[in-house]
Amino acid sequence: MAAGFNSPYRAPMATIHWFRRDLRLSDNPALLAAIEEAAASADPRVVPLFILDPDQWQQLGPVRGAYLVSSLNELGKSLNRNLLIRHGKPTQVLPEVIAAASATSVHISADYVPEVLAADLALEKQLTVPLIRTGSPYAVAPGRVRKEDGTPYRVYTPYYKAWLAHGWRLPAVTPSFTNWWMPLECHGRPTEPDLGNLQLPAAGEAAALAQWEKFKDTTLIDYAEDRNRPDFINGTSRLSIPLRFGEIHPRTILQDLTDKDEVYRKEICWREFYADVLHHNPDTISENLNKQYDLMPWETGKAAEQNFEAWCHGKTGYPFVDAGMRQLLAEGWMHNRVRMVVASFLIKDLHIDWRRGADWFMQWLADGDIASNQHGWQWTAGSGTDASPFYRVFNPITQGIKFDPNGDYVRKYVPELAHLPGETAHEPWKVADGYKFNYPKTIVDHSVERVRALADYEKIKKS
Ligand SMILES: Cc1cc2nc3c(=O)[nH]c(=O)nc-3n(C[C@H](O)[C@H](O)[C@H](O)COP(=O)(O)OP(=O)(O)OC[C@H]3O[C@@H](n4cnc5c(N)ncnc54)[C@H](O)[C@@H]3O)c2cc1C
Repeated sequence: MAAGFNSPYRAPMATIHWFRRDLRLSDNPALLAAIEEAAASADPRVVPLFILDPDQWQQLGPVRGAYLVSSLNELGKSLNRNLLIRHGKPTQVLPEVIAAASATSVHISADYVPEVLAADLALEKQLTVPLIRTGSPYAVAPGRVRKEDGTPYRVYTPYYKAWLAHGWRLPAVTPSFTNWWMPLECHGRPTEPDLGNLQLPAAGEAAALAQWEKFKDTTLIDYAEDRNRPDFINGTSRLSIPLRFGEIHPRTILQDLTDKDEVYRKEICWREFYADVLHHNPDTISENLNKQYDLMPWETGKAAEQNFEAWCHGKTGYPFVDAGMRQLLAEGWMHNRVRMVVASFLIKDLHIDWRRGADWFMQWLADGDIASNQHGWQWTAGSGTDASPFYRVFNPITQGIKFDPNGDYVRKYVPELAHLPGETAHEPWKVADGYKFNYPKTIVDHSVERVRALADYEKIKKS
């Protein structure tokens, strides 16, 4: 006989917190909601669950996969080794865990990536207990900030003003609760993909909070000036990876900022803006936001493939571009200024479709985030919201000289140029021993390709 409400035997009932892009304990409203619900019941146990979906694991790729494994290790430690990791599709795993724990609900932080949002809606219909969403990976959830007439913003600056006026909640308290429960066998963390020489930063909530504290206390004050300098190790906060995995919540960061930190606050808002844009325009993962750009004549064929390969592996012959692409392969991360320059180079010097570059970035970036990435690319391509006008073509040489004036960034990532002093590292063609260590010659002539890019733009503008 099933244990009913009046039965002398009451099956243990717990709540489940399903960790997804919120791999932390502090400032986690969804986790807190699970704990509060359990605490109010006769059986105050919470199942901390992570589901390793084979399809999502595949999609994540080796770089983010390796980071996830380390992050799960850290999360497991902070849960006193009680993190229940189950492998399989959520549609199959959740019913198993719900049954084993006689769970009354499943708590999640809402995810706004279009395909996850759709999967959650479908899953919700199938579950026998409620799927309760509390909070999201954003200070203000996508879809919340709108114009007076109810339509979404398409331009960043007015969005920023409205986002600021809307405001956000204070960080959620950190639970002191320790009554975690593992009602089923833990399948364990997946095997960490072998990344060869690629070095990732330390993962986990503690490392993220420490990184934020360090940045806030030492570098934030100079952020407005230093953020464009890829040669400065601490010019930017390097929090994009922890934000991607939810090891820190943007609200935790925002609560420490004042108006004098507005430049940094605006960067945090770009992440929120792009999530909002993607939420309202889910097809922009692969489609131009501005359909006029569908007519852009992209290069394809053998020569384009060779150029693409050279770009991917940092062998274009343009030192600043190559340093950026090699930083990506060495660290799974690239400085924002250099991301803009390499993206511009692929689109406007090599005339290759932005989607190919975006795919390559998603393959290698540890902070790879579909909203920020696709819209960062569309911004450069001119096809996105608030986009940089197509006719603004980054000069890969002068950008390097301006933002890496001593050539340190180039020398660090391009060993073939390590012998060139100062800014000469940006122009090996100007010095006698520039090619002594077989640095590749430029694959295209920037001044020629710039003219071609502008002509292509004029054509699509007229049409
Ligand atoms: C072509 C291209 C692709 C990009 N792909 C991604 C991506 O996949 N994932 C990602 O997180 N960022 C992406 N960005 C944005 C930006 O380059 C990174 O967020 C930033 O370099 C991360 O370093 P940081 O944490 O030190 O940044 P900081 O300068 O310290 O900024 C703080 C935080 O603000 C947010 N932020 C800053 N700039 C941007 C921006 N332009 N767009 C959105 N958010 C921003 C990030 O969350 C970042 O961690 C991309 C930019 C471009 C031009």
